[in-house]
Amino acid sequence: MEVINTLEVKYAQKFYGPFQAVKDINLTVEKGEIYALLGHNGAGKSTLIKMILGLVKASAGMIEIEGLNYDAKNKEIKKRVGYLPERMNFYDNLTAWETISFYAKLKGITRKRCEEVLEQVGLREAEHRRVGTFSKGMQQRLGLAQAIIHKPDLLVLDEPTTGLDPIGILELKAMIRNWNKEGTTILFSSHNLNDVEELAQRIGIMNRGEMIAQGSLAELQDRLGLPTKIKIDL
Ligand code: ATP
Repeated sequence: MEVINTLEVKYAQKFYGPFQAVKDINLTVEKGEIYALLGHNGAGKSTLIKMILGLVKASAGMIEIEGLNYDAKNKEIKKRVGYLPERMNFYDNLTAWETISFYAKLKGITRKRCEEVLEQVGLREAEHRRVGTFSKGMQQRLGLAQAIIHKPDLLVLDEPTTGLDPIGILELKAMIRNWNKEGTTILFSSHNLNDVEELAQRIGIMNRGEMIAQGSLAELQDRLGLPTKIKIDL
């Protein structure tokens, strides 16, 4: 049977001690979709993303990627998911090329594919510079190259626009659109509706660990009375 949904989250919960960071979240991301998780800092977006990635164990609920349950097929799922964390940790002394080719070697990925992804993220000319000399935007690009290098079905980006200048944000949006056109399903988080409108086909709004609304931008504008062109942070 063909799998229609790339990601299925059902009644996911996460407790840190007595504190509940994620409360009964249901979320479906369809194959080929760009879905944005929107919410204030501390809303629970990163925790939910880490649960989806299998980096944080859910206290309850079910998460499936391409119809596979995380507990059962962890390794298989890792091959199908790419992840850009909120904060990246690179070795400052390595060049971009060394960073990406080291990672590629671990995953059995070719040199040609390394060149291709560095090209896609616009780092070919800087590939022999040390990562420690990179701006936040350039480190972001390297993180994206690493996240997409194994051609994942699902690309998960945690707050990818944070710390980028307006041009960096436009370029990031173009990359996301291109990868999506090539067939990659995308889930990303943001605290700024400006960054998600035009890009996401559907948006889920999180607040204090709960999913308070989901739908297209037009549906959310109708239901929640959001302005048609949003100029403020939610
Ligand atoms: P941000 O963009 O600031 O990361 P977020 O929406 O991604 O915001 P989370 O990082 O998921 O939110 O945090 C949700 C809540 O869970 C916050 O109140 C946070 O303090 C708490 N929290 C996150 N990680 C832990 C942890 N390891 N232990 C205890 N509490 C945590």
